[in-house]
Amino acid sequence: MVRKITFKASVVDSLLSYAKTFHPNEGILLLRGKMSEDEILVKETVIPPLATHGKGFSSFPFHMLPLDLSIVGVAHSHPSGVLKPSLGDLNNFYGRIMVIMAYPYNSERDIAVFDREGNVVKYSIIP
Ligand SMILES: [Zn+2]
Repeated sequence: MVRKITFKASVVDSLLSYAKTFHPNEGILLLRGKMSEDEILVKETVIPPLATHGKGFSSFPFHMLPLDLSIVGVAHSHPSGVLKPSLGDLNNFYGRIMVIMAYPYNSERDIAVFDREGNVVKYSIIP
């Protein structure tokens, strides 16, 4: 079980600005970082090679992503403003964590991190 999740501040900034850029469509970003048994440090975001904006997270071709062990999870935006995963999101869980950015994407209060079961996971931000 993941006990500690830390984001670099630059990751939070890029999640929010990416979500804003694609609003009112959904944007999807991969999260890259380091993970151990119970700790995850998210260091950077990666634009997925096959991003199809606006079609929704659950239609993203996850099976076509390169196998990259530094990918700790996937972030996507909810233009609806709902800060929780849909059933389709949970059915398409990829990696260890799922991050959702909800409209209006203004601060870390518009970001939430979830585990595979859809539970909110606390995270901290470092410079
Ligand atoms: Zn979603």
